[in-house]
Amino acid sequence: MRPALRLESGIPVIRQAGATTALGKVLDHLEHDGFSVEEALERWQRYADRPPPPMLVGWLAQAVCHYLAACAEIAWAETVPVELAPVSRNWGRRRQFDAGDGEAVVHEEVVSGRRFEGDGVRELRLLRTRSVRDRARDEAEIALVAGVVANAAVVLSGMWDKRALALRSAPSPHRVRVVEIGCSDGSHNVLFEGTAQEAHEKYRRDAESVVVAAASGTEYLPGADCGGCDLIGQCPAVPVRPGLLGVDGSGLPRRSWSLSSGRSFDDCPARLVAERLFLPRERAAEDSDHIRRGQAVHAWLEDLHRRVPARACAADEVPSTPGEWSAGRWSVSGEQARLGMQMIADHTLTCALRGPAGHVEAHPERPVVVFDPKANVVVVAKTDLLYRTGGVWRLRETKTVSVLDESALMTQFPQLALAVVLSAEGGVRMGERVRVELERLSASGPVVAELDVEDSEIVAAARSVVRTRVEAWHASPSLTAKPGEVCETCPFNQWCPESKA
Ligand SMILES: [Zn+2]
Repeated sequence: MRPALRLESGIPVIRQAGATTALGKVLDHLEHDGFSVEEALERWQRYADRPPPPMLVGWLAQAVCHYLAACAEIAWAETVPVELAPVSRNWGRRRQFDAGDGEAVVHEEVVSGRRFEGDGVRELRLLRTRSVRDRARDEAEIALVAGVVANAAVVLSGMWDKRALALRSAPSPHRVRVVEIGCSDGSHNVLFEGTAQEAHEKYRRDAESVVVAAASGTEYLPGADCGGCDLIGQCPAVPVRPGLLGVDGSGLPRRSWSLSSGRSFDDCPARLVAERLFLPRERAAEDSDHIRRGQAVHAWLEDLHRRVPARACAADEVPSTPGEWSAGRWSVSGEQARLGMQMIADHTLTCALRGPAGHVEAHPERPVVVFDPKANVVVVAKTDLLYRTGGVWRLRETKTVSVLDESALMTQFPQLALAVVLSAEGGVRMGERVRVELERLSASGPVVAELDVEDSEIVAAARSVVRTRVEAWHASPSLTAKPGEVCETCPFNQWCPESKA
C-alpha cells in the first residue's frame, strides 16, 4: 500500500507474472498496435524476456478469442451505442487520509484491466482467468474500481518504479462502466454502470473503510507471497534458518517451496508452472470422492476452530443432514458424507481445544514461513492448527485416513516431518520448540500421537524426509512437462500442448 517502498539491494528472484498479465501484453498488441490475434501472440512470444511456458501459450491462444467474443457481446448489448477507443496508459490516483493521529497517510490507487473511453464514458474490463458465470460479487472491489475509474488521472510512470507515480490529470467521465470477463469461456458480467457521482458514492459506501484499514495496517502476515518479497531475510516475521532444508542452492535464483508445490513437481514439473501462473483448473479431474470428503471434514473443523473465544468442538456440532452436507466449497453425499460426519463426531473426543476456558488460543490454517538462505528457498508450511493450552504451544496436523497404518508416520505424512524440522529450528514460534501432534480420523475411530521434538533421532529422521521431498525439485529450476499417465488427472490438461501431443 505504501508507494515506492522498496529495498535498494535485493536478492535476485524469479518473478513470474500471472496469466492475466501476459494476456494484457498480447491484448496491447491487438488493441493498440492493430495486429491480428496470430501476429499479437507471435510478437508477445518474440519479445518476452525468456521463452514463455508452453502451458501459458496454450491458455492464451484460447483466452484471447474468448475475450474478443465477450467484447463483441458487450458492445451488442449496449442500450445506447457509444464509440469506445482503447486507452493505452493505466488509470490511477493519489489520495490521502488522516491516520487518526492528525498525520496524513498518502496512498495510490491503480486499476488494472482493459481501459476504454469515448463520448464521456469510461469503461474498465477486468480480466479473470476462470469463467465468471457464477462468480460472487465483491462489493468493496467493485466500489474501489468504479471510484478510481470515475476520477482517475493517467499514469505516466511504470507501475513498480522506485518512486511515486507520475500522474497527468485527464477530463473526468460523466458515465462509468465496470465489466468482468471470464477468459476461459467468454462469459461476462456488468459489475457497475452509473454516473461518476454514483461511482464516488459507491466508493465512499463500500470501499473507503476497507482501503483505509489496509493502508493503515502495520501487521505482518507471512504466507505464500513471501517468496517474491524483496524484504525476505530482513522481515521480523520470517525467521532465517540457513541449512534448514539440507540442500545447497548457491548460484540458484531464490524460489519458494511448499509440500504441495513439491507434490505437483513430482507429478509433472509443468503443473507447478501452471499453478504459479494461476491458470484455471478443471477441478473435477483431480478431486476423488475421498479427497472431497477429507477436504469437507477439514473445512468443517476449521470453521469450528475459528470461533472466538476458542472452544472445543462439541458432540452436537456435527452436520445435521448425514446423507448430504457441505463445508467451505466442498460438498459430499452418500457414503462419503456419512463417513465424514462420523469422523467429525469422532473428532469431538480428541479435539485439541479442550482446556480451562480462557486458557486456550487457536490459529487454524496458520502459514509458517522460514527462509533458508543456504538453499536460497523460502519455505511455506500450511499448518492445520497452531494452538496453546495454558503455557504450551502445539502444532496439530489432522488427517482423515481409510486405514490406520502405524509404519513410518513422517513418510506417510511429510507435513509432520516438516513440522518437526520447523519446530526444532525454532521457526514456528520464534526460538521455541513447539510440540507436534498427529490426529488421525479413521473409519475405526480417532487416534492422536505426539512426536517428540526433543528426540534427536526423530529430528534427524524428519530432516531426512524433508530433504528427500525437496531434493529433486531443488535441483531442477527449469520446469518442463513430463507427460504420461498423470495427464489423465491433471487439472491443467486442457491448456497443455505436451499432454495433447
Ligand atoms: Zn475441534
